[in-house]
Amino acid sequence: MAFENLSAKLQEVFKQLRGKGVLTEDDVKAAMREVKIALLEADVNFKIVKDFIKTVTERAVGVEVLQGLNPGQQVIKIVNDELISLMGSTQSRLTYSNRPPTVYMMVGLQGAGKTTSSGKLAGQLRKQGRNPLLVACDIYRPAAIKQLQVVGKNYGIPVFEMGTEVSPVEISKKALEYAAEQHHDVVLIDTAGRLHINEELMQELLDIKATVRPQEVLLVVDAMTGQDAVTVAGSFDSQLGVDGIIMTKLDGDARGGAALSVRSVTNKPIKYIGMGEKMEDLEPFYPDRMASRILGMGDVLSLIDKVQQNIDEQEAMEMQKKMRSNEFTLEDFLSQMQQIKKMGPLKDLMGMIPGMNGLNLEKAMEGVDPAKEMVKVEAIIQSMTKEERSNPSILNGPRKKRIANGCGRTIADVNRLLKQFEEMKKMMKQMNNMQKGKKGKLPFF
Ligand code: GDP
Repeated sequence: MAFENLSAKLQEVFKQLRGKGVLTEDDVKAAMREVKIALLEADVNFKIVKDFIKTVTERAVGVEVLQGLNPGQQVIKIVNDELISLMGSTQSRLTYSNRPPTVYMMVGLQGAGKTTSSGKLAGQLRKQGRNPLLVACDIYRPAAIKQLQVVGKNYGIPVFEMGTEVSPVEISKKALEYAAEQHHDVVLIDTAGRLHINEELMQELLDIKATVRPQEVLLVVDAMTGQDAVTVAGSFDSQLGVDGIIMTKLDGDARGGAALSVRSVTNKPIKYIGMGEKMEDLEPFYPDRMASRILGMGDVLSLIDKVQQNIDEQEAMEMQKKMRSNEFTLEDFLSQMQQIKKMGPLKDLMGMIPGMNGLNLEKAMEGVDPAKEMVKVEAIIQSMTKEERSNPSILNGPRKKRIANGCGRTIADVNRLLKQFEEMKKMMKQMNNMQKGKKGKLPFF
């Protein structure tokens, strides 16, 4: 996963600031030196690192301490703000043409992930109720047309192609006529890539662009190529004009520097990130969520999205109400756990929880199989009486012993569960506060 190392390093730095009542200028400067090294090691553009450190230091030294935050937390908040702003502040969505079909022209170097991303994007647009058409304009590699056809078939999206003998300009022109006849409201044109940018490639892309007048030119770049991806983006933008960036293979890039630099260098937003091979792995890019992940604050919003997709809304509302009024019981804990099981591998979910990514997660999960843990917890709760489940404070020694015997666990196991339950309640409360925009304490302190 991208940013693994950066995330772990930043958390190390912040651990040293944590809990300090007062931060001196030297404290901030020492921390920023470490942050600088961490960013450079993550392959963030040098100039961006310099500006970033300067801004954060200026804001952090002599800062007024906000209510509810200690100075260490305040520095983290500033770093968080600046990371978000570095990545473009707000989510940049796809735009649609008033006069359909909306045409997206997919461009990029060979192997960046154009064809697969075109397929994933078309598949997602279809899911949103649109009727996309994929167009094969890479006439130089016969295998490219075949590849697009396979991708189209996987997602049930029609592919328009005219073989390798017709020019890409002609193909795209005909594709638009075909789209109009067949009532396709979105057309994704998969253009040819090259190993390097050259004049011939750019001229061809300029010709296609002039012919189809795309709503957006979407540049696909490979995160694993690091700063090269940023350079490529700059060249494409200056020569062709780019509206948005799709950054692929972030799942395979432990550094993430390209994702942090490209917006600032090119002034073009990342619209999607590729996090794997499946359709859903092409994710809309949210700068704030990414910053949270990097800083180990978890990606609570993405987690909530996942929860909302998988959990009954009515039930979730009830649960929230209970949490807010502190009526959340072990019974609810049990039913929530059963719901969580439906959401996929626990390790992925836990990475989104504040304080649980990077090093923390590895440490927390050492020798632990989450699925087995859940079975344990379920058994313990099921050994409790109804009264005990709704009011755990009555759990004294003899009761705990009875429960432990009942499910074949130890009293220590019961105590651990109760502690987890209390911590979860606390975390839920903090998340609630954060959502309500209160200046609550950051969740990992
Ligand atoms: P194109 O030449 O630009 O059309 O690139 P392709 O779409 O053929 O992709 C090149 C390779 O990258 C393929 O093996 C894809 O499966 C892979 N790929 C594309 N996007 C991602 C991604 O987000 N994550 C991973 N792990 N692989 C990807």
